[in-house]
This record gives sequence, C-alpha cells and structure tokens, in this order.
Amino acid sequence: MAFEVIVLPGEGIGPEVTAEAVRVLDWFAAHRGLDVNLRLESHGTAAHAKHGQVIADSVFADLLSADAVLFGATGGPAFDELPEAARKAGGLLRMRRHMEVFANIRPIVACPELADATSLKADVVDGVDMVIVRELNGGIYFGEPRGLERLDDETERGVNTLVYETPEIERIARFAFELARARGGHVHSVDKSNVLETHKLWRKVVSRVGAEDYADVPLSHIIVDNCAMQIIREPKQFDVILADNMFGDILSDLAGAIVGSLGMLPSASLSAPDAAGRRRALYEPVHGSAPDIAGRGIANPIGAMLSVGLALHHSFGRGDDAKLLARAVRRTLGAGIRTPDIRAPNAKAVSTKGMGDAVLRELTRLNGG
Ligand code: NAD
Repeated sequence: MAFEVIVLPGEGIGPEVTAEAVRVLDWFAAHRGLDVNLRLESHGTAAHAKHGQVIADSVFADLLSADAVLFGATGGPAFDELPEAARKAGGLLRMRRHMEVFANIRPIVACPELADATSLKADVVDGVDMVIVRELNGGIYFGEPRGLERLDDETERGVNTLVYETPEIERIARFAFELARARGGHVHSVDKSNVLETHKLWRKVVSRVGAEDYADVPLSHIIVDNCAMQIIREPKQFDVILADNMFGDILSDLAGAIVGSLGMLPSASLSAPDAAGRRRALYEPVHGSAPDIAGRGIANPIGAMLSVGLALHHSFGRGDDAKLLARAVRRTLGAGIRTPDIRAPNAKAVSTKGMGDAVLRELTRLNGG
C-alpha cells in the first residue's frame, strides 16, 4: 500500500523549499521503489483566498489519516493580515495539536564541510551530534487564560499561561529517554525550576520517570539560561536535550548557529503510536517563512530536504534511504555547493533549485548511476 503524504507548502520561502523536498520524495519513488501518493494542498494565504480558511476542513480532517504531512512554513506579513479567527482555526499550532504530535525531534548534526559557514570555532563544532526533543502540544503556546485586555487607565495587559500537567511531562520525558537509550546517550532536561512552579513540576516528573524506568540513561537537569550558553560554549557535551515547547523552540534556533544556518535544520513531530505501532507525523524545516528572502529563489532547501530524510526513517521504515540522503547532502556541501546563507566568503552561491539539483545528482551518483 502506498504511503499517503499531504504536502502543505505554506508561506514565504515555504513553497520554494518544499518544492525541493518533493523532488527528493519523487526521486526515492523513481529510483528506490518508495511507494507514495503525494497530495498537494494549500495552507495559509493561498488557502484563505480559495476557501476562506487557512486550511480546508477536508484537508484538516485528513491530517489524521495521512502517513505523513510535509509542511513548509507559516507566518509573515500577508499571513498576519488574515482574520485572527481564521489564523487560529487552521494555524500550525492547531494542526500540531489536532494531530497530537507532541514529540518534536530536531537533530543538530555538525557538518565538517560547513566549518567555514559557522561563526563558531571548528574544534567547538566538529563532531556535534545532538537531538533537541521539544514538547509540542502544551506549555505557554497553548495555556489558558491568555489574551490582551484594556485596563481602566487605558493601558493594556497581556496574559499567557505556562501550564503542564504530569501526564504531558511523563510522555515527552519517556520519548526523550527512549531516544537517548537507543542512541546509547544521555538526557539533559531543560527548565527554569529556580523561578517557575511549572518547571519545578517538570523537573520532578522527569526525575521520577528517569529513576523508575530509565536508570540506565544518564540524566542531568540544566537551567535554560545556562543551557543556551553551554550550547554555544561546548555543544559536544549534549546528546538529547529535552525541553518544553517554548524553550525547545528558542534553543533549536540557537543550535542553528552550530550547523551554520537555520536553513539546514529539519524536524519531525510525532504522535504516540497507535495499536499498529503507527505514529501520525508532521515533517517541516525548523525555520519560518523568512520574509526577508522570500520570492528570490535563494532559500536553503536542505532543512526541508532532510525533513524528508526524517520521514524516510520514522514513517516509511527506510533508514538506509535516510542515510543515503544524508550522505548526498554532505557530498554536495563537500563539493562546495552552497546557497547564500552558508556560502564561504567570496564564493559563488547556487539558487534553491540549484541546491536541489546538486543533491539529486549526488543521490543518483551514490545510487550507482
Ligand atoms: P525565520 O526562521 O523565518 O528566519 C530567521 C532568519 O533566518 C532570517 O534572516 C531568514 O532569512 C533566515 N532563514 C530562515 N530560513 C532560511 C533558509 N531556509 N535559507 C536561508 N536563510 C533562512 O524567522 P523569523 O524571521 O523570525 O520569522 C518569519 C515568520 O516565520 C514569522 O511570521 C514567524 O512567526 C514565522 N515562523 C514560522 C515557523 C514555522 O513555520 N514553523 C517557525 C518560525 C517562525
């Protein structure tokens, strides 16, 4: 049976980088027997122009049965102009919650070929191989009460609520411990428990889950401010970083500096497995819609292309194909082919499509012809 994949390119550079990700899927279908049905749908301003909704109801419903959803990016000036109710009803946050993809995996793997593209020293970055596990369905992005209110003195008050309950922390902690165990690694759990009650609970629950069921997996707790500093100072000390929704969001952009560009980072968001062991899955690059470079054909598509690699691994049971793609990307970068965000000083850069062409060429070469 073919894997059903819904593709939602979204806003800004989303369609540009997603086009290259789709070419990767097409390549694996044509050359490695991957059986996929791609269904291209609109999300965001394009969908709103068509249906008056950010995502059509029928597509929103089908997110639950798809084997994988490939998403580009959301947000930006045009999207922000849409009516608030429409943005909330079909926005990315609601999609993630609707699909119950609570575990967001963000691998950060240094590329020696890009040593000249990072602002960090080569010996600090070389060998970094960590994963940020971000809780994606709870925390301050969803907590109630929230809102803006006008006060009697004509000033305003903004309110958001950082809330987690024990089961939400338990399930993401288990996910992080399982991942660390499979990697033969360890977990750093990030919090702000010195100030926030929610994070006191976070630390308590993570400690208990670790002690009860994962005594073989080393666990450290780290305060978020120190974690941010340590990621830049000595990133190799980390293996699996477990963080809540907001801290995981921020720390993974920071980690983009290790690789050289935010445009390099892929992500997978997974639900709990059903009875058949199948997880709902949403794959997207870590970056946003990048309005500053959108429409120019210069965005780096590697984060989106490697998100397909995560789909090959987690949804399509094709770990070897995921490795093949990673090798093709490394060889492309090793050959000096760069988009402007990772270009060496004074070197020539390729377009988004040029990078896609180069990776596909390497894939074909590695595949024996
Ligand atoms: P951004 O991630 O869009 O861009 C940050 C910086 O990184 C920009 O300078 C951009 O040019 C650069 N960049 C990002 N992706 C790149 C790529 N593939 N190639 C080359 N350079 C790249 O973050 P932002 O500018 O803070 O936000 C823009 C919009 O995106 C906002 O509306 C925000 O809400 C939204 N956003 C969406 C997502 C998502 O869709 N998952 C994530 C983050 C931000």
